[in-house]
Amino acid sequence: MRLVRSRQETRAAVLSYIWRKGGCFRTEIAENVGLTEASVSRIVAELRSEGILAETRQTAEYQGGPSAILTLSNNHKVGAIEVSNNRVHVGIADLAGEMLFSERFDLKDGASAQSVTQALDQSVSALAERASRTKSHLEYIGVSIPGYDPRTEINPIIALPPASILDRVRASFAEAPVEIANSVVARAIDQRLRLGVVDHRDDYLYVFVGHGVAAAVVNEHWGSGDVIACELGHMVVEAKGPRCRCGHSGCLEAYLSTSAIAPRLKIEEADLLALGDTWPQRVPLGEKISADLMGRLRKLGMAIGNALNLIPARRVFLGGWPANLGAEGHAALTAGIDSSLLGGASRVTLKFVQSELGREPASALSLATFAYLKCGAQPVAEEGRRSRIFATT
Ligand SMILES: [Zn+2]
Repeated sequence: MRLVRSRQETRAAVLSYIWRKGGCFRTEIAENVGLTEASVSRIVAELRSEGILAETRQTAEYQGGPSAILTLSNNHKVGAIEVSNNRVHVGIADLAGEMLFSERFDLKDGASAQSVTQALDQSVSALAERASRTKSHLEYIGVSIPGYDPRTEINPIIALPPASILDRVRASFAEAPVEIANSVVARAIDQRLRLGVVDHRDDYLYVFVGHGVAAAVVNEHWGSGDVIACELGHMVVEAKGPRCRCGHSGCLEAYLSTSAIAPRLKIEEADLLALGDTWPQRVPLGEKISADLMGRLRKLGMAIGNALNLIPARRVFLGGWPANLGAEGHAALTAGIDSSLLGGASRVTLKFVQSELGREPASALSLATFAYLKCGAQPVAEEGRRSRIFATT
């Protein structure tokens, strides 16, 4: 099957494939991105002349086999600002993902708009200063914000309106286009990069359980990789359940957020957050607590099953602390999915993905690279400077 695509889309398809593969032979591109070999040759020549792709010789795997490998060149850079619950991380990396600079700034959980603004200003200045000092031209800047939703003025997690965040980044980087997204979108893009190129071309659901519960649908139509954030954390799983911070009762987050779990573990929420998502291996779990956690994971499974009733995806990747509860956690989640998904859990592939915390600002850097490659790595015209919020609308 060949697709009719614009020049920008074909460039984007070739670049995204090479990015996810971490380098590849010319011969495999055509068949994997749905282009003719002639088109691939033309696009590769173009991208090489622009210095976006590099081709290096290496020993062929077999006699007469391909011997030149294509990679993203390391002279194009992207920048990132990643806000987490207690920090703001900034960084610069090349397109291949090598981090050239990173710095972090403290941000208190539940900080006021004023202190968020202060931390954000500090981090944006540090990024701008570093880019200028090293003469790094940033092709794109990725900004990852928990709770971010371009459709609403209120962010339940970070007390700063979306427009204000964007204005602050733009004030320091007049030239670079900015992609701003909810942190689950950035995480999903980063996780997909680490997943590499797989045979499946079907969409999947990505779920992350950390401070709260976040989910996104990843579109795999010809490797598109577009991500749509969806609201799983506030899906009501028990109408008479505990009160949630959103005002409803019995939301998934009322069972699985760190503020719901911490009292059960008899630990301060800040200490739980500090342990990261490996806490199930570091906090002693008695039989009773363990059973309680499994009950909560069944609720998460039930919510996932309900979500799968709405979308055609049958693959689920789950990151965050439940991934550290091993086979027992997996079984509880599957039982939950089985209790709500029409037809049961037997056709669902549920995979745990390992810890993504502690790698900041890797997700926001992946977001920036994804956004840059998605526009075909072409100089962005003035109208293109507006943020392309493709990911959350
Ligand atoms: Zn809620």
